[in-house]
Amino acid sequence: MAGEPQPDCLFCKIVSGEIPATIVRETDTTVAFRDINPQAPTHVLVIPRLHYPDAASLGAAEPQVLADVLCEAGNVAADDKIDATGYRVVFNTGAGAGQTVFHAHAHVLGGRGLEWPPG
Ligand code: IMP
Repeated sequence: MAGEPQPDCLFCKIVSGEIPATIVRETDTTVAFRDINPQAPTHVLVIPRLHYPDAASLGAAEPQVLADVLCEAGNVAADDKIDATGYRVVFNTGAGAGQTVFHAHAHVLGGRGLEWPPG
């Protein structure tokens, strides 16, 4: 069923606690944890507890939860004090855009200069 945990999903296993992660924030609908391979001094992933393969499918089915993910991205930035200098929120969507984990997630990146356009 849509949104149900998927047995082979890495991020569902982080939500359930089966796989450890450095969790920095939790809400009823989201979990935020540090990326295992950080690309910036702050690199946190904000994920919905519900399983949807990407941000678009999450937004179509559960728009409030997608809003919660974005709100938590801002809270992560404030916690890490990168909100004043600027930060980036990225949803890689599809393998061609670099998505490797097919459970919706926002990357929150900051703490260094960020180039535009991204690679
Ligand atoms: P994507 O490439 O946009 O799908 O992002 C997936 C992210 O998950 C990558 O930045 C990985 O470094 C990160 N990642 C993969 N496994 C883990 C883990 O076990 N803990 C935390 N981050 C992870």
